[in-house]
Amino acid sequence: MISVEKALEILEANVPEPKRVEIRLEDALGMILFSDLVSPESAPRFTNSAMDGYAVRWSDCCGIASNGPKILQVHGESQAGVPFFGTVQPGEAIRISTGAMLPEGADSVVKVEDTEEAPSGVKILATPIHGQNVRVEGEEFKAGAFLFAKGTRVGPRELAMFAAVGVKTIPVYRSPRVSLLITGTELAEPDSELIKPYQIRDSNTIMLSSATNDSGAHLNKICHVEDDLAQTIQVMEELLTETDILLCSGGVSVGRHDHVKDAAEAVGFSELFWKIRQKPGKPLYVGRRQDTLLFGLPGNPVSAFMCFYHYVRPVLARLQGSSNEYRSMTARVGFQIKNHGNRTNFIRVKVAKEPNELACIKEIAQQGSHMLSSITTADGYIILEPGALLEPGELVEVALF
Ligand code: AMP
Ligand code: MG
Repeated sequence: MISVEKALEILEANVPEPKRVEIRLEDALGMILFSDLVSPESAPRFTNSAMDGYAVRWSDCCGIASNGPKILQVHGESQAGVPFFGTVQPGEAIRISTGAMLPEGADSVVKVEDTEEAPSGVKILATPIHGQNVRVEGEEFKAGAFLFAKGTRVGPRELAMFAAVGVKTIPVYRSPRVSLLITGTELAEPDSELIKPYQIRDSNTIMLSSATNDSGAHLNKICHVEDDLAQTIQVMEELLTETDILLCSGGVSVGRHDHVKDAAEAVGFSELFWKIRQKPGKPLYVGRRQDTLLFGLPGNPVSAFMCFYHYVRPVLARLQGSSNEYRSMTARVGFQIKNHGNRTNFIRVKVAKEPNELACIKEIAQQGSHMLSSITTADGYIILEPGALLEPGELVEVALF
C-alpha cells in the first residue's frame, strides 16, 4: 500500500498532456483558453455617435452662449445600421442615433435634449465641446491588442468580447473524454421493477456520470458487465476507443470475482498503483496505457465517490487546463477526534457557519463506506493521519464537496 501523498504524486506525474481544440463560441462556455488571445479588430470598429442627436461641425456651433442659438440645415440621417454616406457641409447637421456611423465632415454630436426642431432645420441651443458624444474608432483598443491570457476560463463576458470583435473560434483545452465501466453481477437498474432480494440498485452509474459532467469532462460511453473476466476484457477494449479516462466501478478488490485489474492488464495497462493507505477507498487501482488512464474505483458507493473526488477530479481539472482543484475552508473542530487506525482517514463532516464567525464542523456519526448518507449529509471532509488527534477548538481545513 502507498500513502495518499505518494498516490497523488504518481498521478500528477502521469497526467497526459492536455490537448488543444479550436471551438466555436457557442460550445466554449466554461472552457479554459489554451493560449493568449489578441483582438483581430479595433474597438469601436468605426467612429460613431454615443447619443441620439445631431452630427455637426463644431466650428458651426461656436459662440452660442454669447450670440444665441444657431440654426443648421438638416441634410439627412445616419441611423444605426443605415449610415449617411455624404459629407456634412458648413451650416449643416445630420440627424444621428446612438451607435450610428459619424458622417464625413462632422466632428461632434449635439444630443437631442440640447436642440429644438426649427421650421428651417434644427436649432442648436448650446455649444458642444469639440468631439463631444463621439466614440472614436479604436479608443477602447486597437486591432492586435491583448485581450485575454492563456488560462482564462471562458464565461459570458469573455464570450461577449469575442463576439464583438469577430473572433469565431477559440483555442481551448479539449474536454477529457470519460467512459464508464460498471461491474457487478448483483446490480439492477435503479428504476427496475424486478429487483430481487439479493440485488443491489446501481447507484454508481448515475453518481459517476453526473460527477463526470459536473467536472466539465465529456461523458463518452457507459457499459455494464457482470463479474466475468472475459466479458470485462472485451467491453473494456471496446470502451477504450476515443476515451482519455476510463472509470471502472467495483471489481477491484481481492475477491475471487474481482476482475478489473486483470482485465486492465490484459488490454495493455500498466499498474501505476493499487491500494492506498486510506479509508475509505483503499482498493483504488490506477493503470496507464499510453495517454489513457484507467481508474479502478471500489464498488462501495462512498469509496467510489471519495476516490473520484480526491483523485479523478483533479486529473480532469488538469486536463482542462485548470489548477484550482479543491475548494476548502478553515473550520473549528467542535468535538475531539482521533484517528485510531493505521490508514489516512477521510472523515466526512458537516459545516455550520454563522455570519462573521469561523465555521464549526460536526462529525457524521455513520462513516461506513457502504453508507451513502455519510456523503449526502456531509459538506466535505477532513484528512486525518494515523494517530492524529484534534481537540475541540482546534482549526482544521475542510475540503468542500
Ligand atoms: P466491489 O468493489 O465490486 O467488491 O463492491 C463492493 C460493494 O459495493 C458491494 O457491496 C457491491 O454490491 C457494492 N457495489 C458495487 N457496485 C455498485 C454500484 N454500481 N452501485 C451500488 N453499489 C455497488
Ligand atoms: Mg463487485
